[in-house]
Amino acid sequence: MTASTTAPSTLVTTDKVITSFDPPRTMAGAAIGVRDGLIDWVGPKDAAPADRYEQIVRLPGTALPGLVDAHVHLSFDPDVADPISDALDSVRARVTQTIESNGRRFLERGVTTVRDLGSMRGVVLEAGRGLGRGTWLGPRIVAADQPITRPQGHAWRIGIQSDSATSARAAVRDLFDRGAGAVKIMVTGGRMTVGTDPLSVEFPSHLIAAVVDAAHEVGLNVAAHCLSVAGIRAALSAQVDSIEHGTFISPNGLGCDEETVERLAQEIAQSGTYLCPTINADYPGRHPIPFEQRLHWVSILHRVGVKVIVGNDTGIPGLPPDLYPGALRALESAGMSSAQVLHSATALACQALGLGRNSGTLAPGLAADLIVVEGDPLADLRALSAPALVMVGGRTVAGSRT
Ligand SMILES: [Zn+2]
Repeated sequence: MTASTTAPSTLVTTDKVITSFDPPRTMAGAAIGVRDGLIDWVGPKDAAPADRYEQIVRLPGTALPGLVDAHVHLSFDPDVADPISDALDSVRARVTQTIESNGRRFLERGVTTVRDLGSMRGVVLEAGRGLGRGTWLGPRIVAADQPITRPQGHAWRIGIQSDSATSARAAVRDLFDRGAGAVKIMVTGGRMTVGTDPLSVEFPSHLIAAVVDAAHEVGLNVAAHCLSVAGIRAALSAQVDSIEHGTFISPNGLGCDEETVERLAQEIAQSGTYLCPTINADYPGRHPIPFEQRLHWVSILHRVGVKVIVGNDTGIPGLPPDLYPGALRALESAGMSSAQVLHSATALACQALGLGRNSGTLAPGLAADLIVVEGDPLADLRALSAPALVMVGGRTVAGSRT
């Protein structure tokens, strides 16, 4: 396996290049030059300095930025019923195998960046470090490593348990020192942890705010697991960077009223907080809130201007990386245009992950994370289902034509 830094310089020519989605910028008969892991040229095919590249890849179809899944658990095996027990009971090698398998499967779906929002200590960080060394065949990883949770709180068996602002700050510092690229906090209980309540708010607001402060001090964004209305309110007032799930569960169960959702959605929009709804058209049945209801909440979020990003919760039981396209179709069903969905799956998600300016678009100077698909995804998102070429950091890592 070659390191990304030694991948041959490549000129990719296609029928069409979509460089970004907000608004969609397309170029017919275009080419992208890739060198040393970065894009170094984008423009019309005929004007491309072809002799400057070691290889030329000519493909029909459309080139676009690689896709993002903003909420995954690479170390969970989606084929087991209790992935946290499975992860803890397994030897490290077994977990590493799961991470590698999930990583490869993401590449096949054109996903070039993932944000891992909770794993046992160190395993995903270690995989992510392999990208630069050429030992990791998977997407670029922004990893939260261990989630911060209250004692015995959601995912406590893999998390860092905290019950004070002081220990929470220390946890953030420790995660940062070990290489975490994001901080995950469990603001409410979760369905996968026995004895926790999705309705509850697990931390006093000053502790959530302490996590946010400590994370921002070292340049990390905070993703808050929030299932309930109360949890979303608590996370918003502590100014977290993204709300994960955001399913608006209320004490009346499914009966959260439209007005509450609408009002809260407007607050989220005004605050600029990202929302990752972890909704998937191919995984409709296993949630306590009916799929149509969740879709309706997402349509409200989108309508009032919330920055909705694509994330699947990949790794939870029954949700392998292969289902990634279902997340895009769910957002489309919630009323987003294909360009808006793709913006949410590229540049907007990259912003939420705290990646650099313009990240998730195709432009000189940016990481060469891109895909080529047959057909035009702006006309039909199904064009994304089997990419012909997938490149991460300038290295071709998957695709039917490679
Ligand atoms: Zn999750």
